[in-house]
Amino acid sequence: MADDLRQRARASFLGLALGDALGATTEFMNPAEIRAQYRVHKKLRGGGWLGVKPGQVTDDTEMSLAIAQAINRADGWDLAGIAENFLAWMRAKPIDIGATVRKGIVHYRRTGSLAMPPNEWDAGNGALMRMAPVCIFSLGDPELLRRCTLEQAHLTHNHPLSDAACLCLGVMVQAALQGADRFELHGMTRELIAAYPNFRFNNYRGLASGYVVDTLQTVFHYFFSTASFEECLIGVVNQGGDADTTGAIAGMLGGAFYGVESLPTRWLRKLDKKVHHEIDLLVPRLLALSPLQKKGTAP
Ligand code: MN
Ligand code: MN
Repeated sequence: MADDLRQRARASFLGLALGDALGATTEFMNPAEIRAQYRVHKKLRGGGWLGVKPGQVTDDTEMSLAIAQAINRADGWDLAGIAENFLAWMRAKPIDIGATVRKGIVHYRRTGSLAMPPNEWDAGNGALMRMAPVCIFSLGDPELLRRCTLEQAHLTHNHPLSDAACLCLGVMVQAALQGADRFELHGMTRELIAAYPNFRFNNYRGLASGYVVDTLQTVFHYFFSTASFEECLIGVVNQGGDADTTGAIAGMLGGAFYGVESLPTRWLRKLDKKVHHEIDLLVPRLLALSPLQKKGTAP
Protein backbone atom coordinates (compact mmCIF):
# COMPACT_ATOMS: atom_id res chain seq x y z
CA MET A 1 0.00 0.00 0.00
CA ALA A 2 2.71 2.49 1.01
CA ASP A 3 4.79 1.26 -1.89
CA ASP A 4 1.88 1.63 -4.31
CA LEU A 5 1.45 5.24 -3.19
CA ARG A 6 5.18 5.92 -3.57
CA GLN A 7 5.21 4.54 -7.09
CA ARG A 8 2.10 6.47 -8.11
CA ALA A 9 3.54 9.70 -6.71
CA ARG A 10 6.71 9.13 -8.74
CA ALA A 11 4.62 8.34 -11.81
CA SER A 12 2.62 11.53 -11.37
CA PHE A 13 5.69 13.79 -11.26
CA LEU A 14 7.47 11.87 -14.01
CA GLY A 15 4.25 11.90 -16.03
CA LEU A 16 4.18 15.68 -15.77
CA ALA A 17 7.73 15.91 -17.11
CA LEU A 18 7.03 13.43 -19.93
CA GLY A 19 3.90 15.30 -21.01
CA ASP A 20 5.81 18.58 -20.97
CA ALA A 21 8.68 17.17 -23.06
CA LEU A 22 6.32 15.42 -25.49
CA GLY A 23 4.03 18.43 -25.90
CA ALA A 24 6.85 20.96 -26.37
CA THR A 25 7.18 19.66 -29.95
CA THR A 26 3.60 20.53 -30.91
CA GLU A 27 3.02 23.63 -28.78
CA PHE A 28 1.13 26.32 -30.76
CA MET A 29 0.51 24.01 -33.73
CA ASN A 30 -3.01 22.97 -34.76
CA PRO A 31 -4.09 19.34 -35.27
CA ALA A 32 -3.93 19.59 -39.10
CA GLU A 33 -0.36 20.96 -39.01
CA ILE A 34 0.67 18.21 -36.59
CA ARG A 35 -0.87 15.54 -38.83
CA ALA A 36 0.84 16.94 -41.91
CA GLN A 37 4.22 16.96 -40.22
CA TYR A 38 4.19 13.83 -38.03
CA ARG A 39 1.03 11.89 -38.89
CA VAL A 40 0.78 11.13 -35.17
CA HIS A 41 3.29 12.77 -32.83
CA LYS A 42 4.32 10.16 -30.25
CA LYS A 43 8.08 10.39 -29.81
CA LEU A 44 10.21 12.52 -27.50
CA ARG A 45 11.80 14.09 -30.57
CA GLY A 46 12.32 17.66 -29.36
CA GLY A 47 12.00 20.61 -31.73
CA GLY A 48 8.88 22.76 -31.62
CA TRP A 49 8.87 26.55 -31.56
CA LEU A 50 11.33 26.53 -28.62
CA GLY A 51 13.72 24.16 -30.37
CA VAL A 52 14.02 21.83 -27.38
CA LYS A 53 16.30 18.79 -27.31
CA PRO A 54 14.59 15.37 -27.24
CA GLY A 55 13.46 14.81 -23.63
CA GLN A 56 14.04 18.39 -22.58
CA VAL A 57 11.36 19.92 -20.32
CA THR A 58 10.11 23.52 -20.08
CA ASP A 59 8.69 25.92 -17.50
CA ASP A 60 5.89 23.54 -16.50
CA THR A 61 8.32 21.00 -15.04
CA GLU A 62 10.88 23.59 -13.92
CA MET A 63 8.36 25.53 -11.82
CA SER A 64 7.05 22.28 -10.32
CA LEU A 65 10.59 21.37 -9.33
CA ALA A 66 11.08 24.87 -7.87
CA ILE A 67 8.10 24.25 -5.55
CA ALA A 68 9.33 20.77 -4.60
CA GLN A 69 12.84 22.07 -3.88
CA ALA A 70 11.51 24.81 -1.59
CA ILE A 71 9.47 22.27 0.40
CA ASN A 72 12.49 19.98 0.60
CA ARG A 73 14.78 22.75 1.84
CA ALA A 74 12.34 24.00 4.48
CA ASP A 75 11.15 20.56 5.62
CA GLY A 76 7.62 21.80 4.94
CA TRP A 77 5.49 24.40 3.21
CA ASP A 78 7.45 27.60 2.60
CA LEU A 79 5.65 30.06 0.34
CA ALA A 80 8.43 32.67 0.58
CA GLY A 81 10.92 29.96 -0.34
CA ILE A 82 8.83 29.06 -3.38
CA ALA A 83 8.66 32.72 -4.45
CA GLU A 84 12.45 32.99 -4.06
CA ASN A 85 12.94 29.86 -6.17
CA PHE A 86 10.63 31.26 -8.85
CA LEU A 87 12.65 34.49 -8.85
CA ALA A 88 15.98 32.65 -9.09
CA TRP A 89 14.52 30.54 -11.90
CA MET A 90 13.40 33.64 -13.83
CA ARG A 91 16.81 35.28 -13.35
CA ALA A 92 18.48 32.19 -14.83
CA LYS A 93 16.64 32.92 -18.11
CA PRO A 94 14.44 29.85 -18.57
CA ILE A 95 13.73 28.55 -22.06
CA ASP A 96 10.12 29.68 -21.66
CA ILE A 97 8.10 31.75 -19.21
CA GLY A 98 4.43 32.73 -19.40
CA ALA A 99 3.44 36.40 -19.38
CA THR A 100 1.27 36.05 -16.26
CA VAL A 101 3.98 34.09 -14.47
CA ARG A 102 6.55 36.75 -15.27
CA LYS A 103 4.21 39.49 -14.06
CA GLY A 104 3.67 37.65 -10.77
CA ILE A 105 7.36 37.08 -10.15
CA VAL A 106 8.22 40.69 -11.00
CA HIS A 107 5.46 41.78 -8.60
CA TYR A 108 7.09 39.69 -5.87
CA ARG A 109 10.53 41.13 -6.65
CA ARG A 110 9.25 44.72 -6.50
CA THR A 111 6.93 44.47 -3.50
CA GLY A 112 7.82 41.29 -1.62
CA SER A 113 4.13 40.41 -1.81
CA LEU A 114 3.29 36.72 -1.90
CA ALA A 115 -0.07 37.17 -3.65
CA MET A 116 -1.12 38.88 -6.85
CA PRO A 117 -4.24 41.02 -6.60
CA PRO A 118 -7.29 39.49 -8.33
CA ASN A 119 -7.17 40.09 -12.08
CA GLU A 120 -9.76 39.16 -14.66
CA TRP A 121 -6.99 38.38 -17.20
CA ASP A 122 -5.22 35.81 -15.04
CA ALA A 123 -7.35 32.80 -16.05
CA GLY A 124 -4.39 31.06 -17.68
CA ASN A 125 -3.18 27.55 -16.85
CA GLY A 126 0.16 28.61 -15.28
CA ALA A 127 -0.81 27.76 -11.70
CA LEU A 128 -2.50 24.50 -12.70
CA MET A 129 0.58 23.10 -14.44
CA ARG A 130 2.67 23.09 -11.24
CA MET A 131 0.23 21.25 -8.93
CA ALA A 132 2.05 17.90 -8.70
CA PRO A 133 4.32 18.74 -5.72
CA VAL A 134 1.40 20.34 -3.86
CA CYS A 135 -0.73 17.21 -4.33
CA ILE A 136 1.99 14.91 -3.02
CA PHE A 137 3.10 17.11 -0.12
CA SER A 138 -0.42 17.73 1.24
CA LEU A 139 -1.67 14.12 1.08
CA GLY A 140 -3.79 13.25 4.08
CA ASP A 141 -5.01 16.77 4.89
CA PRO A 142 -7.68 18.33 2.63
CA GLU A 143 -7.36 21.71 4.34
CA LEU A 144 -3.62 21.76 3.73
CA LEU A 145 -4.21 20.88 0.07
CA ARG A 146 -6.60 23.79 -0.21
CA ARG A 147 -4.31 26.30 1.48
CA CYS A 148 -1.14 25.27 -0.39
CA THR A 149 -3.00 25.17 -3.72
CA LEU A 150 -4.37 28.69 -3.40
CA GLU A 151 -1.15 30.12 -1.97
CA GLN A 152 1.08 28.76 -4.71
CA ALA A 153 -1.48 29.71 -7.38
CA HIS A 154 -1.81 33.30 -6.17
CA LEU A 155 1.92 33.93 -6.45
CA THR A 156 1.17 34.46 -10.14
CA HIS A 157 -2.51 33.76 -10.92
CA ASN A 158 -5.42 35.12 -8.90
CA HIS A 159 -8.62 34.25 -10.70
CA PRO A 160 -11.67 32.19 -9.61
CA LEU A 161 -11.48 29.85 -12.65
CA SER A 162 -7.78 29.15 -12.07
CA ASP A 163 -8.47 28.57 -8.37
CA ALA A 164 -11.37 26.21 -9.10
CA ALA A 165 -9.34 24.28 -11.68
CA CYS A 166 -6.35 23.92 -9.34
CA LEU A 167 -8.48 22.77 -6.41
CA CYS A 168 -10.38 20.23 -8.54
CA LEU A 169 -7.24 18.81 -10.13
CA GLY A 170 -5.58 18.68 -6.70
CA VAL A 171 -8.39 16.58 -5.26
CA MET A 172 -8.42 14.34 -8.34
CA VAL A 173 -4.67 13.71 -8.38
CA GLN A 174 -4.69 12.93 -4.65
CA ALA A 175 -7.60 10.52 -5.12
CA ALA A 176 -5.85 8.85 -8.05
CA LEU A 177 -2.65 8.53 -6.00
CA GLN A 178 -4.70 6.65 -3.42
CA GLY A 179 -6.26 4.30 -5.94
CA ALA A 180 -9.56 5.96 -6.90
CA ASP A 181 -11.27 4.53 -10.01
CA ARG A 182 -12.30 6.61 -13.02
CA PHE A 183 -15.94 6.86 -11.87
CA GLU A 184 -14.86 8.54 -8.65
CA LEU A 185 -12.63 10.89 -10.60
CA HIS A 186 -15.43 11.68 -13.03
CA GLY A 187 -17.67 12.56 -10.08
CA MET A 188 -15.10 15.16 -9.02
CA THR A 189 -15.28 16.82 -12.44
CA ARG A 190 -19.07 16.98 -12.07
CA GLU A 191 -18.67 18.92 -8.82
CA LEU A 192 -16.45 21.43 -10.59
CA ILE A 193 -18.92 21.72 -13.47
CA ALA A 194 -21.85 22.19 -11.09
CA ALA A 195 -20.08 25.26 -9.68
CA TYR A 196 -18.53 26.45 -12.98
CA PRO A 197 -20.45 25.11 -16.01
CA ASN A 198 -17.73 26.55 -18.33
CA PHE A 199 -15.66 23.44 -17.61
CA ARG A 200 -18.16 21.04 -19.27
CA PHE A 201 -16.19 18.76 -21.55
CA ASN A 202 -18.76 16.54 -23.22
CA ASN A 203 -19.05 17.72 -26.83
CA TYR A 204 -15.38 18.69 -26.57
CA ARG A 205 -14.76 21.48 -29.10
CA GLY A 206 -11.05 20.85 -29.60
CA LEU A 207 -9.85 24.08 -28.03
CA ALA A 208 -6.53 23.49 -26.26
CA SER A 209 -5.33 27.02 -25.52
CA GLY A 210 -3.62 28.29 -22.37
CA TYR A 211 -6.99 29.49 -21.03
CA VAL A 212 -7.48 27.30 -17.98
CA VAL A 213 -10.98 26.23 -19.09
CA ASP A 214 -9.75 25.07 -22.53
CA THR A 215 -6.79 23.35 -20.90
CA LEU A 216 -8.78 21.37 -18.37
CA GLN A 217 -11.45 20.43 -20.93
CA THR A 218 -8.71 19.02 -23.15
CA VAL A 219 -7.15 17.05 -20.31
CA PHE A 220 -10.49 15.69 -19.09
CA HIS A 221 -11.69 14.82 -22.59
CA TYR A 222 -8.63 12.69 -23.34
CA PHE A 223 -8.24 11.28 -19.85
CA PHE A 224 -11.82 9.97 -19.75
CA SER A 225 -11.96 8.78 -23.38
CA THR A 226 -8.72 6.75 -23.40
CA ALA A 227 -7.56 3.62 -21.61
CA SER A 228 -3.83 4.13 -20.97
CA PHE A 229 -1.31 6.76 -19.96
CA GLU A 230 0.27 6.65 -23.38
CA GLU A 231 -2.98 6.93 -25.34
CA CYS A 232 -4.13 9.82 -23.15
CA LEU A 233 -0.91 11.79 -23.63
CA ILE A 234 -0.72 11.16 -27.35
CA GLY A 235 -4.29 12.39 -27.72
CA VAL A 236 -3.60 15.54 -25.74
CA VAL A 237 -0.37 16.61 -27.45
CA ASN A 238 -1.76 15.95 -30.94
CA GLN A 239 -4.46 18.49 -30.15
CA GLY A 240 -1.70 21.13 -30.27
CA GLY A 241 -2.35 24.54 -28.72
CA ASP A 242 -0.67 24.78 -25.32
CA ALA A 243 0.41 21.18 -25.83
CA ASP A 244 3.31 21.06 -23.35
CA THR A 245 1.05 22.29 -20.58
CA THR A 246 -1.98 20.14 -21.42
CA GLY A 247 0.56 17.31 -21.72
CA ALA A 248 2.06 18.10 -18.32
CA ILE A 249 -1.34 18.20 -16.61
CA ALA A 250 -2.59 15.05 -18.33
CA GLY A 251 0.71 13.42 -17.38
CA MET A 252 0.41 14.24 -13.69
CA LEU A 253 -3.18 12.92 -13.55
CA GLY A 254 -2.54 9.96 -15.84
CA GLY A 255 0.67 9.02 -14.02
CA ALA A 256 -1.10 9.06 -10.65
CA PHE A 257 -3.99 7.00 -12.05
CA TYR A 258 -2.19 4.40 -14.19
CA GLY A 259 0.99 4.11 -12.09
CA VAL A 260 4.66 3.90 -12.89
CA GLU A 261 4.45 0.70 -14.95
CA SER A 262 2.29 2.55 -17.47
CA LEU A 263 4.97 5.12 -18.35
CA PRO A 264 6.45 4.09 -21.72
CA THR A 265 10.07 3.04 -21.26
CA ARG A 266 11.06 4.57 -24.57
CA TRP A 267 9.91 7.97 -23.23
CA LEU A 268 11.53 7.55 -19.81
CA ARG A 269 14.86 6.66 -21.44
CA LYS A 270 14.78 9.92 -23.41
CA LEU A 271 13.69 12.16 -20.52
CA ASP A 272 16.34 14.68 -19.39
CA LYS A 273 18.52 12.71 -16.94
CA LYS A 274 18.94 15.53 -14.46
CA VAL A 275 15.19 16.12 -14.28
CA HIS A 276 14.51 12.40 -13.90
CA HIS A 277 17.07 12.15 -11.08
CA GLU A 278 15.73 15.20 -9.26
CA ILE A 279 12.17 13.89 -9.39
CA ASP A 280 13.34 10.55 -7.99
CA LEU A 281 15.02 12.36 -5.09
CA LEU A 282 12.27 14.87 -4.35
CA VAL A 283 9.13 12.71 -4.51
CA PRO A 284 10.05 10.52 -1.50
CA ARG A 285 10.89 13.70 0.43
CA LEU A 286 7.51 15.29 -0.39
CA LEU A 287 5.78 12.10 0.67
CA ALA A 288 7.75 11.79 3.90
CA LEU A 289 6.77 15.36 4.81
CA SER A 290 3.06 14.81 4.03
CA PRO A 291 0.49 14.53 6.86
CA LEU A 292 -0.45 11.09 5.52
CA GLN A 293 3.04 9.68 6.08
CA LYS A 294 3.55 11.57 9.31
CA LYS A 295 0.30 10.16 10.71
CA GLY A 296 1.35 6.70 9.58
CA THR A 297 4.72 6.89 11.31
CA ALA A 298 3.70 8.81 14.46
CA PRO A 299 4.30 6.89 17.72
MN1 MN B 1 6.01 25.09 -21.06
MN1 MN C 1 2.79 25.74 -22.35
